[in-house]
Amino acid sequence: MEFLPFTRPAIDEATIQAVSDVLRSGWITSGPKVQAFEAQLSELMGGRVVRSLNSGTAALEIALDLIDIQPGDEVITTPLSWVATANVILLAGAKPVFVDVDPHTRNIDLNLIAAAITPRTRAIIAVDLAGLPVDRDTLYALADKHRLRVIEDAAQSFGASWNGRAIGSFGDLVAFSFHANKNLTTGEGGCLVLPDPALAPLCEKLRLQGVVRSADGSMEVDIAGGKFNLTDIAAAIGLGQLPHLTEFTEGRRELARHYFAKFDTALNCELPLADFANSNWHMFQVVLPLARMSIGRGEFIARMKARGIAVGVHYPPIHLFKLYRSLGHSEGQFPHAERIGAGIVTLPLFPAMGMQDVERVCSACSEVLNEVLS
Ligand SMILES: *Cc1c(COP(=O)(O)O)cnc(C)c1O
Repeated sequence: MEFLPFTRPAIDEATIQAVSDVLRSGWITSGPKVQAFEAQLSELMGGRVVRSLNSGTAALEIALDLIDIQPGDEVITTPLSWVATANVILLAGAKPVFVDVDPHTRNIDLNLIAAAITPRTRAIIAVDLAGLPVDRDTLYALADKHRLRVIEDAAQSFGASWNGRAIGSFGDLVAFSFHANKNLTTGEGGCLVLPDPALAPLCEKLRLQGVVRSADGSMEVDIAGGKFNLTDIAAAIGLGQLPHLTEFTEGRRELARHYFAKFDTALNCELPLADFANSNWHMFQVVLPLARMSIGRGEFIARMKARGIAVGVHYPPIHLFKLYRSLGHSEGQFPHAERIGAGIVTLPLFPAMGMQDVERVCSACSEVLNEVLS
């Protein structure tokens, strides 16, 4: 039986042709395709200014720069995310302050944020894990009340919405990733949605060496920007992906629905929150009942692999990585994130999958778990 990966990008022939065209055009770095991609992204974001970048991490780094995060500042975030979310805070010289997750959404528990705010707190980085949006009404009410900036780490929630509004079309700074595994990909890439068009010139300087070019061909540099521009090769992939966005999101939603219909609840796994209004179903993740199993997560993954099914882990809790332990973190600080992070597995979910693939995954989970559950 064919091996089922946990995800696979959906690139059509027209996109492959468009990439070839760019390669033959003689202009392969940032150029007309990047401009066209940014224009289409802006349209999706309700006309807000969007700047493309070469990664989602770059979008977060630039967002922190745009709100002038300084050494000594504190930024509140979740311990249950890709490590990039916290690394960028450290790279800015600031202190990540973790707040435990809500076990139902697996996103930062908004009710616990107020207690983590100090006079040094400047911002919240909210992560939409697996594409399930953090409650934007509560998030922004909290941010307004405490005068904090918000950076939405929407790396996983491109195509998701909040009460009918596209993620990215409202709010403060919104960072998306177009990494190969994300719902919409450019291979590697990302973008930042700006809350104010006046930020665009600084964003562009931070993106490319601080350079400002004048119409007469001269240039000036007044800050040390980085090197974060997207290539036209990547933008051509993005332009080929965008027309499929709705189809991708709806396809994922139907597959997720089928998981809920077919996954055996008697296995005592914790299923994700069944949100069919807002989530883009970036991932379908279950938490294994480790305490009742005679094997660990690694062995579960190996037994699924032996059945031709890839299972991912997204993510171990950030605060328990060596780097973060060296900053004073330890077990017991964020019990929900630790329990979920220890037992979470990502089951296959991508647009090209069929309903029978979902059934195959559910049957394999039943076979593997029924042998080891007590
Ligand atoms: C993928 C991801 C990032 C980083 O995006 P890159 O494009 O890989 O740099 C950041 N945060 C989260 C939650 C992600 O899933």
